[in-house]
Amino acid sequence: MNDITLAPIQPDQPSHLMATYGRQAISFVRGRGAYLYTEDGTEYLDALTGIAVCGLGHAHPVIAEAIAEQAATLVHTSNLFEIPWQTAAAQKLAEVSGMEEIFFSNSGAESNEGAIKIARKFGTQQGVSSPKIIVAEQSFHGRTLATLSATGNKKVQDGFAPLTNDFIRVPFGDVEAIQEAALQHPDIVAILIEPIQGEGGINTAPQGFSYLEEVRTICNQHNWLMMLDEIQTGNGRTGKYFAYQHTNIVPDVLTTAKGLGNGFPVGAVMTQGKAVGLLGPGSHGSTYGGTVLGSRVVYTVIDTIQKENAVENAAVVGGYIVDQLRAQLADKNVQVRGFGMMIGIQLPKDCAELVAIARDQHKLIINVTAGSVVRLLPPINMTQAQADDLLERLVALINNYL
Ligand SMILES: *Cc1c(COP(=O)(O)O)cnc(C)c1O
Repeated sequence: MNDITLAPIQPDQPSHLMATYGRQAISFVRGRGAYLYTEDGTEYLDALTGIAVCGLGHAHPVIAEAIAEQAATLVHTSNLFEIPWQTAAAQKLAEVSGMEEIFFSNSGAESNEGAIKIARKFGTQQGVSSPKIIVAEQSFHGRTLATLSATGNKKVQDGFAPLTNDFIRVPFGDVEAIQEAALQHPDIVAILIEPIQGEGGINTAPQGFSYLEEVRTICNQHNWLMMLDEIQTGNGRTGKYFAYQHTNIVPDVLTTAKGLGNGFPVGAVMTQGKAVGLLGPGSHGSTYGGTVLGSRVVYTVIDTIQKENAVENAAVVGGYIVDQLRAQLADKNVQVRGFGMMIGIQLPKDCAELVAIARDQHKLIINVTAGSVVRLLPPINMTQAQADDLLERLVALINNYL
């Protein structure tokens, strides 16, 4: 092992990092399962997992070993060659997703870019010269130019005009607004939505997952592609492998990233049905997409999720957390929303400061989104005992605050 140690950062040392993030003044040097550790050994319970990324927890031994062994064998050859691990990863992902074709990318935004290209190609083939995609208010689809244009959040778009003109926005859950848009815009070719809006505040549609079934019906009526952004909701997070599996429908295009690599940067855009075959040779690519190393990680993550029954665990233990929160916070003015290990606690007021209070006073890592929603994204393989640990810290936090 090489033993390079970093000199401690001095408080007055100028940073060369672009100031794009509001960072907390803490850093972790080690992780294990649901826990993170600072240099001095202080233990924190992690109910955020790198924003829904490390679903199997930190430093999972099986995944760590796969990374180390593959890194010492072969990392990258390029897509000019056959990559058996990529073929095997696609096979596994097809199995758990119900999709037919898979293109590997490196991030969520890049996966959604692939979906948007597929929609444009689909439209172009039908003679639509300026294909349009319906998207939802309060959605989040990424930070590239096309995906920030799709995103329903002005803060993400501010200062980056011109936005691409692919998108028509409707309220999330509003089926009539979609039918209305269909009447006004004959050039619509697809709908892109999140089954549960993550950044938007852990929102399902008012009618729940039946919204997805209604959207499927409308897409069939108009011959549109139904495209689901499961970058956050995928990979077992909601107690099904993909959130759409809470319903009886299947989307035409499915994107994922976050939990797909348990921290290794990978993403995927997947197709089935009428979306298959739209991207042929030369039409799309990514140098780092589906490297030998990245593909082995994807394969190993899916295999491990299956062997640990982590999806079922997310449903059971996540359900327990939601039930307990509802019971233990019954006398507080809060609403608990959630599926599996994707849980939001809607507070009656803005609560961004809870992040620091949870961290400093309860040694608990959480996130606050949409101003007043405590967002919990614990490991999907969290044990019952860890869930009780989480509940104890969280209920104390919220009881003290409200
Ligand atoms: C995180 C996220 C993205 C963007 O993923 P990146 O990897 O940051 O590009 C897109 N859509 C949803 C729903 C997300 O949660």
